[in-house]
Amino acid sequence: MWNNKRFHSLNYALKKEFGEKIYKVSLDGGFTCPNRDGKVGRRGCIFCSDSGSGEFAGSRRKSITEQIEDQLELISKKFPEGKVIAYFQNFTNTYGEVEYLEGIYREALSHPRVAGLAIATRPDALPEDVMELLDRLNREHFIWIELGLQTMHDKTAEFINRGYNLQVFDTSARTLIEKGIRVVVHMIVGLPHESREDILETVNYINELEVWGVKIHLLHVIRDTALHRIYMREGFPLMEEGEYIQLVCDIIGRLNPKIVIHRLTGDGSKDTLVGPVWSLNKRRVLNTIDKTLKEREILQGYEK
Ligand code: SF4
Repeated sequence: MWNNKRFHSLNYALKKEFGEKIYKVSLDGGFTCPNRDGKVGRRGCIFCSDSGSGEFAGSRRKSITEQIEDQLELISKKFPEGKVIAYFQNFTNTYGEVEYLEGIYREALSHPRVAGLAIATRPDALPEDVMELLDRLNREHFIWIELGLQTMHDKTAEFINRGYNLQVFDTSARTLIEKGIRVVVHMIVGLPHESREDILETVNYINELEVWGVKIHLLHVIRDTALHRIYMREGFPLMEEGEYIQLVCDIIGRLNPKIVIHRLTGDGSKDTLVGPVWSLNKRRVLNTIDKTLKEREILQGYEK
């Protein structure tokens, strides 16, 4: 259905949009986060690492153009030519003066190999002037905005110290969607105190929003985060591989087939990941998800 995949993958969606394979390059726009600098909070989300959940981004000491060149060099063996999406990944990539934002976004877009932008941010960092900028850029270029929901449940959101409630998320997401801007929602599977039903309720909510895309993450405990400290102090069950794979297949079966799936697991680094360590073998996890979808005869949005 989607180039022999049983779900609507980002690869498929980008190939359909641009007629060719598109890679992503991760950039650091030099931002911080309102949940870390004191505007909203100082502790950050409990799972967030020092790099602001952007372990693989370029160096903030370099210009955007230099970072793009560095990242293109890194992928030059398997991707010597062709277009990329410039991904502003770590911290809150709309948390700045609108002139600064426009400058770095347009610098990225002016690179001859950049086909579009992906901008990761928080729903409480999208004031009106930034919304207007995104609206303008979206009329001229291919862009998407990534919002970290993680869960629709406010009780869990408080536990993970997300710093905004569902109402704030809902208002920003719907404003972007009404402007015709593609929205990609991050959700985390395996958060402490969340049941299978809680997770599937978040999926139902994402369906109802009619977002463009979703990123499904496995909860990672990363060294020296608040979550790591809670894990050491109190302990909580980490997801088993088989349990995660079945749950991801359940999610795919329920997700609206129009929603583009950008990610099906986390991207941990062996140097900082405390657990679950099985997730470091990403290839095996993804292959087993494909195999399980086939065995269970699940297609995205059509569970038997
Ligand atoms: S909003 Fe993002 S950057 Fe800020 S603390 Fe949470 S995960 Fe980290």
